Amino acid sequence: MNRFLSRRSFILIPLMSILKFIFTPKEVYASSASSAEDYNLTKEEWKNKLSPESYYILREEGTERAFSSDLNNEKRKGIFYCAGCNQALFSSETKFDSGTGWPSFWDHIKGSVETKIDFKLIVPRTEYHCSRCGGHQGHVFNDGPMPTGKRYCNNGLALKFVPE
Ligand SMILES: [Zn+2]
Repeated sequence: MNRFLSRRSFILIPLMSILKFIFTPKEVYASSASSAEDYNLTKEEWKNKLSPESYYILREEGTERAFSSDLNNEKRKGIFYCAGCNQALFSSETKFDSGTGWPSFWDHIKGSVETKIDFKLIVPRTEYHCSRCGGHQGHVFNDGPMPTGKRYCNNGLALKFVPE
């Protein structure tokens, strides 16, 4: 009896792991084949990769001065990419003039950003970052225009714009 059981598990266990491997869905990322692991860099590696200003925003959750980014006035059609890893974050179709002095969007490209709550200004704010490299982009508020009512208030230094 014991012999029979162990023989059966000997066959079943490898078979189950093969099936699990086949049926586990692969995670889908917003733009290219690079994965989050490719951007698991050290502080030094990020410093070499980014300008000091972008490093401060993306890796230290800094905020640029209002009205300091040219992207605030960018009105052409195109895509706004993460300055850290080139993942597509926003389309010009969701950009609007919020009057705040930071590039603002009412929606992001699906799957491209993740949020967390920060308490830097005591009042909780929802911080969001690139889902691929984890780079800080800005804060999202609930006073944006329809159809979402969201306002993604983004640092221009954390973005790269490519016109259509
Ligand atoms: Zn990124």
